[in-house]
Amino acid sequence: MSAIGNSAASRDKAFILHPYTNLHAHETQGPLIIERGEGVRVFDDSGKAYIEGMASLWCVSLGWGEERLVQAAAKQMRTLSSYHIFGHKSHEPGIDLAEKLIELAPVPMSKVFFANSGSEANDTAVKLIWYYNNALGRPEKKKILARVRGYHGVTVATASLTGLPNNHRDFDLPIARISHADCPHHYRNAQPGESEEAFATRLADQLEAQILAEGPETVAAMFCEPVMGAGGVVVPPATYYEKIQAVLKKYDVLLVADEVICGFGRTGHFWGSQTMGMQPDILTCAKQLSSGYLPISAVMVSDAIYRACVDESKKIGTFGHGYTYSAHPVAAAVALETLAIYEERGVLNHVRDVAPLFQRRLRALADHPLVGEARGVGLIGALELVADKTSKTPFDPVGRAGAVVNGLTQDNGLIVRAMGDSIALCPPLVIGEADLNELFDRLTTALDAAIPVLR
Ligand code: PLP
Repeated sequence: MSAIGNSAASRDKAFILHPYTNLHAHETQGPLIIERGEGVRVFDDSGKAYIEGMASLWCVSLGWGEERLVQAAAKQMRTLSSYHIFGHKSHEPGIDLAEKLIELAPVPMSKVFFANSGSEANDTAVKLIWYYNNALGRPEKKKILARVRGYHGVTVATASLTGLPNNHRDFDLPIARISHADCPHHYRNAQPGESEEAFATRLADQLEAQILAEGPETVAAMFCEPVMGAGGVVVPPATYYEKIQAVLKKYDVLLVADEVICGFGRTGHFWGSQTMGMQPDILTCAKQLSSGYLPISAVMVSDAIYRACVDESKKIGTFGHGYTYSAHPVAAAVALETLAIYEERGVLNHVRDVAPLFQRRLRALADHPLVGEARGVGLIGALELVADKTSKTPFDPVGRAGAVVNGLTQDNGLIVRAMGDSIALCPPLVIGEADLNELFDRLTTALDAAIPVLR
């Protein structure tokens, strides 16, 4: 122990391989150790408070210390602390949660498959799509499209769907049969003077050309986050989903809505699919399903997909897919209680009440000398930092400005997330107006302090 030292920071460096961290820098820098949470704030081991402007990783919708979730978990722990639903077994928390999700689905859905993370939910969706097309006797219809800057997870298949270079580079990804369509980011990818509608038409035309080039008989599905999160919070242009869905329908390509971030009120409707006018064949969700208190995710499938699974399992003898903790009873009980709280407390109405303030203060920062674009919808948004506002020239190297602002906000008692040079905000859904104003005051102070560092 003596060589390592006794502090939590030195033991962290000695024993943890950190996800999404520059491991080399971590060896000198070490961790920020968060000790506890209360409402929309977390506290580090020196007692310093931070407004959690990212709801942890886009998930702690109800904030920290929600006693009803603690009680729901404790009660279920005492009744049936663990069980599975393989081979015809079942339990009430899983049944109740599936029934509730089918009731809440944005379009008619038939069945719910449970997993533990967003990655597992999307990985399951990939397998279901392949299974479905085999059941229909279309073994060649297997290719899957996602989008540049989309984020769908980090398993071998879902990291391949993710359209971010760092998730592929030196991991030998993407795998075959997965490719990426263009990113619907008007600020970065529209041509000069191109309207949102004209940009959407061009993206739909490009998608059609891509499907024709691949061969429509080989293209099975497209994954879309209604609003992209980890790619820098990208809200697609007006008419985008209407136009791309027409293309997908024309070539019998399924639409998967990845609602892992957007689900449960984030964008101002219960589902991002409703905000964006999407009619998915498969919907995946996680994160805010349990307010991030326990790991649980869900995949909802249309009746056509479920029927194909029934046919395949009859032929093969089983549906050969499932996780030990699919529908874990404690996680399911906490998710059910989370959904009950959303309804009883009118959390969606609260989002609609405070979102105008959030968007107004966010968009006011578009005038800041370091900000090229302020974008968002509901209670999610981002600021894109640029070296030159007129020419939209990024900082060089990309990521430095984001890291500087990220560090300054943290010093200033606010946690945000820098994705390249986009600074994302996704606070707990229950945040009130006073805390929102404080969040933006702190962010503004940090941006001002970044000017002399970056210029
Ligand atoms: N899909 C989206 C849209 C996400 O934002 C994430 C995670 O941030 C995932 C999938 C992957 O979820 P997980 O990290 O739980 O595997």
